[in-house]
Amino acid sequence: MHDIWNPWHGCIKISEGCQHCYMYYLDRMRDQDGSRIYKTSQFDYPIQKDRLGRYRIQSGELIRVCMTSDFFLEQADQWRPEAWDLMHQRPDVMFFLLTKRPERVADCLPHDWGNGWDNIWLNVTCENQRRADERMPLLLDLPFKHKGVMCAPFVGPVSLAPYLDGGQVEQVICGGENYDGARPCHFEWVQALQKECVSRDIRFCFLETGTVFIKDGKRYRMPLKQVQSEMALKAGLNHPGRPIRFHLTDRFGLEIPRDALYVPHYRPSCERCSGKLTCNGCSDCGKCEAKEK
Ligand code: SF4
Repeated sequence: MHDIWNPWHGCIKISEGCQHCYMYYLDRMRDQDGSRIYKTSQFDYPIQKDRLGRYRIQSGELIRVCMTSDFFLEQADQWRPEAWDLMHQRPDVMFFLLTKRPERVADCLPHDWGNGWDNIWLNVTCENQRRADERMPLLLDLPFKHKGVMCAPFVGPVSLAPYLDGGQVEQVICGGENYDGARPCHFEWVQALQKECVSRDIRFCFLETGTVFIKDGKRYRMPLKQVQSEMALKAGLNHPGRPIRFHLTDRFGLEIPRDALYVPHYRPSCERCSGKLTCNGCSDCGKCEAKEK
């Protein structure tokens, strides 16, 4: 996908949320072992250019990093400095990091990190209360300009209230589990989390229900992610929250003029997708049209 950069692939399971990891599942489908960790051919994606010499990633885009691994995985320590350097070469692009290893972050920062680069967004996974209480204090202590939370897979009720009042958390995304052995997501968990975010005007996105969804005592089975996303949107819980502003510059530190920044565009099918609130927009891959045919 255009808005995903996987500099390396593969991972080691570390907590309850990893039990049915989609990366392991998809690797198994390809007769691969998800615990085999390797550098990918797309390692230099942030600085790749098209045949006209333009960056493939435009200024102002939001790129999700390491969606088939963890950016702070120990086995990737050898490659990370180069990855940081690539993100530093693109201060005009936003990079969304997601980790279950916040305890490793402080020792993995570049020497010139200071109190955080403006274009880096650190998010931690809080799949249940135990992991929220373990990871949120670490996240709040880390020197990052932008912070967020991912309650996905949502496998237990989570209250983030004690960690939201300081105003550091700009976004909370939640979503049920998918693939083999998917555990149920309860609607009342989503509602309770949304209330905590709305009362503090923090962006909240209910991305998808997951394969097994429990609402008003009824159990729903929805294997199709498109249906899950439509159901999540229909719940009407998404909240844009206060604006999230990134200070994006060119390599000389000059602010990028607003009209030079990438503006996401969407297709009709995006209007039924609950992830629209947080996504980088349509990349014209044509997959959704193919599905609708
Ligand atoms: S941290 Fe993420 S990628 Fe790694 S095993 Fe867990 S769920 Fe999978």
